[in-house]
Amino acid sequence: MTDTQERTDFDAIVIGAGFGGIYMLHKLRNELGLSVRAFDRAGGVGGTWYWNRYPGAKSDTESFVYRYSFDEDLLQEWSWEHSYLTQPEILVYLEHVVQRYDLERDIQLNTGVTAAHFDEARGVWEIRTDADEPFTARYLVNAVGLLAATNLPDIPGRETFTGELLHTGAWPEDQDLTGKRVGVIGTGSTGTQFICAAASLVEHLTVFQRTPQYVVPSGKRPVDAAELAEIKEHYEQTWDHVRNSTVAFGVEESAVPAMSVSAAERRRVFQENWERGNGFRFMFGTFGDIATDPDANEAAASFIRSKIGDIVEDPETARKLTPTDLYAKRPLCNEGYYETYNRENVSLVDVAENPIAEITPHGVRTEDGVEHELDVLVFATGFDAVDGNYRRMDLRGRGGQHISEHWQQAPTSYLGVATVGFPNMFMILGPNGPFVNLVPALEVQVEWISDFIGAAEDSNVAVVEATQEAEDDWTSTCQEIANATLFPQAKSWIFGGNIPGKTDTVMFYLAGMSAYRQQLAAVRDNNYQGFDLRKATQPTSV
Ligand code: FAD
Ligand code: NAP
Repeated sequence: MTDTQERTDFDAIVIGAGFGGIYMLHKLRNELGLSVRAFDRAGGVGGTWYWNRYPGAKSDTESFVYRYSFDEDLLQEWSWEHSYLTQPEILVYLEHVVQRYDLERDIQLNTGVTAAHFDEARGVWEIRTDADEPFTARYLVNAVGLLAATNLPDIPGRETFTGELLHTGAWPEDQDLTGKRVGVIGTGSTGTQFICAAASLVEHLTVFQRTPQYVVPSGKRPVDAAELAEIKEHYEQTWDHVRNSTVAFGVEESAVPAMSVSAAERRRVFQENWERGNGFRFMFGTFGDIATDPDANEAAASFIRSKIGDIVEDPETARKLTPTDLYAKRPLCNEGYYETYNRENVSLVDVAENPIAEITPHGVRTEDGVEHELDVLVFATGFDAVDGNYRRMDLRGRGGQHISEHWQQAPTSYLGVATVGFPNMFMILGPNGPFVNLVPALEVQVEWISDFIGAAEDSNVAVVEATQEAEDDWTSTCQEIANATLFPQAKSWIFGGNIPGKTDTVMFYLAGMSAYRQQLAAVRDNNYQGFDLRKATQPTSV
């Protein structure tokens, strides 16, 4: 046990030990010299990559840019074998980072933070854990994950199932699906990855699909030593490009409007990118207006639909798999998704046409009266995204206001990193942050938050808090940008539309990475414009 393990009062407390929390702890403790404790309810570090161990779990950001950029030596030292990283590979990488920076001694695992209350008189956060331990900290940083609060739909009879019922976001380490009859509900990024990987493991896979998806090939391929050397040699330019791009995925983004070229040229470009693979490349690298122009969007969508017709052998299965709505959710990619439905041991149930009536002790009964018998039922039903983990805590700011009261209409923020009424509290990937490749995004936020805390410490500022006006302006900005795109017209977690009863609202800044960085830099350079900065001697009310 180290000295900090006996302490209960800290300069800063970080909730979460995924990509965000790990880097935040490093910045605050190792660089600013603050006393810091990080908590995670998980039994290990890694966040997303600790919890999501389902077959097929991997990044869909290509390997070379799904990693921290801040450590140049690590960029040179660390290698990989394929153009995408599997869950075990990412977990090993994050465990290494924790070791490399000697962070483990200040991470308290198996500990959920249940409550965090801001004590206005003392200007500190009072924190409680699920072991009922009390802690205090001057700063609270939430790195609680935007895709980490699992969504388990309340389907009648769920508790009666006598087989194994699993959520992909809480996958047991030793789970073996070999030779089992498995059902999966959900065909998002997770469901489609799971389906491709599980099909060859199980005796039979029954897919319960509510909404068909546009899926393009991932283009996953081996990366040899020569390519790796080339990538490492050019990392500086790569990160420069990523940080100054829109989606930060390390793909060349097109500025060409789809309808400005002939139909034959469009098809050529789509085909070329279909063969290269990657969802974000297909949406943002083919043409510049797939996400904004309905005709461009339809051109991309109809190309993918034609591929489904070509690939899927059974016409009825192909019909069920073919989406008719906009191509405007987070783009998906995979290895042989549609091909998987040509396997003898995979069947598709369209639960929009034939809804799930109930879960029975032995499987799933659909409204047509058929009972699909299963040994394992997998919920690939996603997350209460973005604000879910905030609302699940007893998180209270000034005046004892609960975060859910503050976010009664919708989750809001200033710059995605702070919210009015919650002084000295920061958020990593909070509401209305950027919708991009997330590791570079959270790095930018962590560095900005760390700079801000460092500046406050240096200038004897005790309390920092976003102003209502700044938050309102940021919210309107995010709404205006979102409304200029097609994304709000498709129902998905990006707008909270995936959870019954959750407000369908803008939850991201959709102007991209480069614009987002400029906004953060401008606020910092203007002495943290939009924040109230109160010196230690000033009263806490403004
Ligand atoms: P997380 O990794 O989610 O970590 C949050 C941690 O906070 C969790 O460990 C959780 O246990 C902990 N926590 C939450 N609340 C509490 C509490 N009250 N008390 C204690 N601990 C708490 N993004 C991309 O950009 N590219 C990808 O390819 C990509 N692939 C993904 C694949 C999957 C399967 C999933 C689910 C997500 C993927 N994402 C991807 C998004 C991914 O979540 C982010 O890239 C990134 O890992 C987020 O890191 P984080 O530290 O912010 O949050
Ligand atoms: P998701 O995109 O929200 O998909 C959830 C799926 O479950 C959808 O198909 C949804 O159908 C279905 N569903 C939910 N409730 C249902 C119900 N009651 N009955 C029937 N079906 C139901 O969640 P996700 O797939 O976990 O992905 C979330 C995000 O995590 C992704 O967008 C991505 O950002 C990240 N992720 C990335 C990767 C990767 O490729 N690297 C992998 C996994 C996750 P409807 O569409 O009809 O709502």
